[in-house]
Amino acid sequence: MKLISIVVPCYNEEEVLPLFYAEITKVMAQIQEKHSDTDFELLFINDGSKDGTLKEFRNMAEKDSRVRYISFSRNFGKEAGMYAGLQNAKGDYVVVMDADLQHPPKFIPQMYEYVLSGEYDCATTRRVSREGESKIRSWFSRQFYKIMNKISQTEIVDGAQDFRFMTRQMVEAILSMKEYNRFSKGIFSWVGFRTKYMPYENVERAAGTTAWSFKSLFKYSLEGIFAFSTAPLAISSLLGIVSCLIAFIMILIVVIKWLVWGDPVQGYTTTICVLLMIGGLQLFCMGILGQYLSKTYLESKSRPIYLIQETEEFVQKNKEQD
Ligand code: UDP
Ligand code: MG
Repeated sequence: MKLISIVVPCYNEEEVLPLFYAEITKVMAQIQEKHSDTDFELLFINDGSKDGTLKEFRNMAEKDSRVRYISFSRNFGKEAGMYAGLQNAKGDYVVVMDADLQHPPKFIPQMYEYVLSGEYDCATTRRVSREGESKIRSWFSRQFYKIMNKISQTEIVDGAQDFRFMTRQMVEAILSMKEYNRFSKGIFSWVGFRTKYMPYENVERAAGTTAWSFKSLFKYSLEGIFAFSTAPLAISSLLGIVSCLIAFIMILIVVIKWLVWGDPVQGYTTTICVLLMIGGLQLFCMGILGQYLSKTYLESKSRPIYLIQETEEFVQKNKEQD
């Protein structure tokens, strides 16, 4: 028997969960019709939701023995949710997907075929259109991918998503990356393996609202840059060298002017401007340094990536004791 684990990180998804469950079980049945040697487990992660998500999990787990869940002690973020899911999934294959049906379950049978064929270790979808997204947002995300791929050795594919069908081997590779600052788009690509990208049109969320604001996306992209590139450090050294060069040339000009024409040094305003600019540059570069330092600081604490408060196993054990 082959087991496929479906990992679904959820944050305030009570509205969409029944829809998701209905869709995913249909697809599971469809796969089992073709591959009778395939079993499923649905592993939901409750990332500190403030609505009835956990209650929904408990109901599903009670009715369907294939449903497992992990509930965090607070909101740790989607990256932590995915990590917990991968760590606790028992399957020979693992699927990671969102609960909001923006990752259409109908792709899973095809993904399974790709991986079963032995040609690929991972199948994923790739957004080819950014419909339903504001123009400014699309522009910013395109710029992000452009910059990121210029300055990082790890290729981050534009439009690639966290909707993935992976072999156990790839999952183990991802789990071996134990960093605290997790940027999955980079991690998936860093581990390598043969990946099939399946193009698809963007779908709107089925219900509920997205937790991503423009600000949080912007922060997320900076995380990506700091996690997968040290180019900003090189850029700050470069800025230093360039301003040294400019200063050197200016010194030459001033000295020659003084020697040849006897011009007294003048220009209070220029002095202040240059001082301010150099000061600003220095602070900017120190800020970049600080970013890397703060990441190192968090890594060195080696805090757990997530904390579990409840799983379906705890609940079962309690029931047996009663
Ligand atoms: N999510 C999560 N923790 C968070 C934020 C989001 O587990 O702190 C989950 C969310 O429930 C969903 C997935 O991550 O299943 C993607 O979130 P969302 O749909 O808000 O993001 P978008 O699709 O807009 O990128
Ligand atoms: Mg979504």
